[in-house]
Amino acid sequence: MAEIILEGVTKRFPDGALAVKDVDLDIADGEFVILVGPSGCGKSTTLNMIAGLEDITDGTLRIGDRVVNDLAPKERDVAMVFQSYALYPHMSVRENMGFPLRLAGVDKATINTKVEEAARVLDLTEHLDRKPAQLSGGQRQRVAMGRAIVRDPKAFLMDEPLSNLDAKLRVQMRTQISRLQRRLGTTTVYVTHDQTEAMTLGDRVVVMRQGLVQQIGTPAQLYDLPRNLFVAGFIGSPAMNFVNATLEGNVLRSPLGDLPVDDRTRQSLERQNAPRELIVGLRPEAFGDVALAPDRGRDGPLLTVTVDVLESLGSDVYVYFTAEGGPATTAELEELAADSGVRDTGAGGAQHIVARLDAATRAREGEPLELRVDMSKAHVFDPSTGANLT
Ligand code: ATP
Repeated sequence: MAEIILEGVTKRFPDGALAVKDVDLDIADGEFVILVGPSGCGKSTTLNMIAGLEDITDGTLRIGDRVVNDLAPKERDVAMVFQSYALYPHMSVRENMGFPLRLAGVDKATINTKVEEAARVLDLTEHLDRKPAQLSGGQRQRVAMGRAIVRDPKAFLMDEPLSNLDAKLRVQMRTQISRLQRRLGTTTVYVTHDQTEAMTLGDRVVVMRQGLVQQIGTPAQLYDLPRNLFVAGFIGSPAMNFVNATLEGNVLRSPLGDLPVDDRTRQSLERQNAPRELIVGLRPEAFGDVALAPDRGRDGPLLTVTVDVLESLGSDVYVYFTAEGGPATTAELEELAADSGVRDTGAGGAQHIVARLDAATRAREGEPLELRVDMSKAHVFDPSTGANLT
């Protein structure tokens, strides 16, 4: 069994920086778990503690049936794949891949068999005698994977292994890594700052922020049931739209107009003593083009908006429009906005909203458009705690 269990794992660097705070995480044998979050959230430090490259300040780390807190990296039987690949330039692909086995004193014939097996799996057989400089980025990345595979470790630990590749190759390699992981069934922990990568690769995703775990769940759970504003805004592209709203009876008064609250949401808000001032979150697909589906979500409120910008993606169309009344602001949202523009908080007191519509829409830039809001897809957040109250 190669489960990985973190209990109250904390990292404080000698300069006092608290990089990882009290992380609890149970990774099952064979599971593919992604650590994701903005720069500096502590994901690499967490991975490095599992690898044994950083000491653990507090807490317990188990790999398989052993507590490994005090074991050196090589005693943990895990294989790390780095963003830089860390290949030796003077060695051939064969030598690079066999290197960890040679270090471990494995005999030559066994090394050869294992390297050739891994090369077959990774489609590198023809390149075994080349040097890294003679390979493409994707091939180098596969050699780095191969070096991890030949050791047949208890777990793979990968730190942004695709970030040196161009966008197209990254998508291809994503599929390959996912297939390979399923085929080998080796427990894998994978670090990325890219939420799309996290959502497409992982059995489960751990969203981190400022050293704290925000939520652990399957991609669908994170998308449909985000626990707080941060996760809601970080997961999904285009990002969830947020507007300020005031609760008055069964209605949320917002820059998008009056949004009715269904019974379930109202009860949930009452149960949690929700404040009157709230933030409503609507994913782009919560808006529907009334002209295309007049009956869909009949009970939802109607909006007439003016289309600012229209982006066609072939199958879908993103329609951007402006809601008056100012962007929703909280510390979480500001951090999200600051973090690589995952969210556009709007400018000049207005707020840009994006709706994802079917490509058949007749929407045109500069023209009015009738939209219906599917309130069953709405999330309501407490602006002071960020908690999802729906
Ligand atoms: P990135 O995506 O930018 O690599 P990350 O989420 O992997 O970010 P970490 O590298 O784990 O983040 O860093 C977490 C926090 O710990 C950051 O605030 C960072 O500045 C701090 N940190 C990392 N290494 C050290 C160190 N050796 N000494 C002091 N602080 C450190």
